Amino acid sequence: MYTELKNYLSSHQVELVAVSKTKPTSAITELYDQGQRIFGENRVQELVSKHEELPKDIQWHMIGSLQKNKVKYIAPFISLIHSVGSLDLAKTINKEAQKNDRSIDVLLQIKIAQEETKAGYSFENLTSELEELIALEHVDIRGVMGMGTFTSDEEVTIMEFGYLKECFHKLKDKHFSTKKNFTEISMGMSGDYKLAVEAGSTMVRIGSLLFGARY
Ligand SMILES: *Cc1c(COP(=O)(O)O)cnc(C)c1O
Repeated sequence: MYTELKNYLSSHQVELVAVSKTKPTSAITELYDQGQRIFGENRVQELVSKHEELPKDIQWHMIGSLQKNKVKYIAPFISLIHSVGSLDLAKTINKEAQKNDRSIDVLLQIKIAQEETKAGYSFENLTSELEELIALEHVDIRGVMGMGTFTSDEEVTIMEFGYLKECFHKLKDKHFSTKKNFTEISMGMSGDYKLAVEAGSTMVRIGSLLFGARY
C-alpha cells in the first residue's frame, strides 16, 4: 500500500503525513525503513515518547487539538503544527518557540465541515485576528488545514475542500502575497484523499489506510 500511495501522491506533488496515532513504534519503523520521514500524531504525550524513542530525522507533525499548557513539551522539536485555531494558542506557540530559540511552522485550521464538533477558525474570525497572528515573530504560518465532514456524500466533501482552497487563495492574495513559503493546504484523510488531491491539496494526513484500523 505504501509504495502505491507514495507514487500516486508524488505524481501530484502532494506530501504524505503518515498518521501513526495509537500505533506502536514498530509500525512506524516499518514505514521509516521504506523511506517515510513525516509522521503525524494527535496526542502530546504519545508524540513526545515516540520522538524520544525513534530516529531523530523523523519530522513530527502535530495534527490534533493542542492544549496551551502542553505546547512546551513539543516546542523543542515539532516540525509542523496543523491545528492552530486561536490567537491564544498561536501566542503560546510563539512564546515556547522563542524559549527554544527557534521558529515553529504552523497551519491555520479552518472549519470547513458543517458539524459543530470540528475545531478551527471560521474564515471570518481568522481574518479578524490575522494581523496579530502574522506579527508573532517565532510562528511561521505555512498555510491552512481543514477536516471535511465524515460522510459518504462526495458532493459535500468536494464542496468543503473547494471552500478550503478558496480560503487559502484569499489569504494568499490579501495577506501573504509576498510570503514565498505560504504554500500548504493540508486536507484529505484515508477516506477522501483522492478527492482532496483533485481539489488541490498539498499535504494529506493518512492513518488507517497505511496502518490498519484503530480500535
Ligand atoms: C486521525 C486523523 C487523521 C487520519 O485519519 P485516517 O482516516 O485514519 O486516515 C487525519 N487527520 C486528523 C486531524 C486526524 O486526527
